[in-house]
Amino acid sequence: MLVAALQEIDFIAADAPAAGPYPPGPAFGQHITFMGCAPALAAEGQDLHSVEVSGPSPAPLLAAGDNLRPPRCPACGRSPEDWREQVRAWNGEPAQRDWTCPNCGKTHPLAGLDWRRTAGVARVFVTVWGVFEREGIPGDALLSALGTVTDGPWTYFYLRR
Ligand SMILES: [Zn+2]
Repeated sequence: MLVAALQEIDFIAADAPAAGPYPPGPAFGQHITFMGCAPALAAEGQDLHSVEVSGPSPAPLLAAGDNLRPPRCPACGRSPEDWREQVRAWNGEPAQRDWTCPNCGKTHPLAGLDWRRTAGVARVFVTVWGVFEREGIPGDALLSALGTVTDGPWTYFYLRR
């Protein structure tokens, strides 16, 4: 259903392979706003990019890459000092756990932390490969198309592998 929704808005190709990764569709460049100069996109077409859909997983998962920055506590705004070890242990794991801030003692679900767009918690991920970090922003039409086939609103983050 999610793949069909992405095909309907031409974000991925109509004749995409059943399991992905999916080649970009004709409107791919309209659904991602590229910041700065992205000359390769115009010059070489859209072959640089591919789209992967993963999930739904039974439980929300935390996804983080090498670019991860320390999450902020929504209550006090501080980041835990030992965050890197903690997040490494959580990465790819079910994220239905709480995190207690060592600074203010408040407890938050992992999904409620401010990951500064360097990690995310979800049951379904749509990964757009070939976009430089913070140089591509998904448009409202893309996010709302995704929202029509899943529960809840969509957001985005950057993951470097
Ligand atoms: Zn705190």
